[in-house]
Amino acid sequence: MKVENYVTLEFLSRSTNEAFARTAAAAFAAQLDPTLDEVGDIRTAVSEAVTNAIVHAYPDKLGKIVMKLRILELTVRDWGRGIDNVQQARQPLFTTGGEERSGMGFTIMESFMDKLTVKSTPGKGTVVSMRKRIVPRLSGRR
Ligand code: ATP
Ligand code: MG
Repeated sequence: MKVENYVTLEFLSRSTNEAFARTAAAAFAAQLDPTLDEVGDIRTAVSEAVTNAIVHAYPDKLGKIVMKLRILELTVRDWGRGIDNVQQARQPLFTTGGEERSGMGFTIMESFMDKLTVKSTPGKGTVVSMRKRIVPRLSGRR
């Protein structure tokens, strides 16, 4: 039987936890010997996904967020408000967030990662899955 290996991080939707989540994702990715660019891409994508869970999933309360880290796939899950129309939410510039949001989060995740899938049920929550292949490098190149 093949047992997949993963690490999970569970935290509350406090804005201060966003920096922790992206740093944890970068630390996890470090074992794959990524380039600085690759780590930067992962940090950026995680930052967008976790910020969404913090500001949109739980607009007026603190809720649970779980980030699951695997070698090729990273998921951010919340049990918040959910998204009515995922296809529309993923469009560049679409936002329900008002002035301070630009509606570019999903677009940024999509461009910095190799694959993005979003599953959401209104009233139940959202799962954002992202894949990125870290290109294997010859050891000692750095
Ligand atoms: P930006 O990320 O540029 O600050 P934004 O968060 O509005 O703005 P996206 O990240 O692309 O833009 O998200 C688009 C929309 O999808 C959000 O405005 C919100 O309506 C919805 N959304 C995204 N993530 C979630 C989530 N985890 N729970 C509920 N709604 C979400
Ligand atoms: Mg966003």
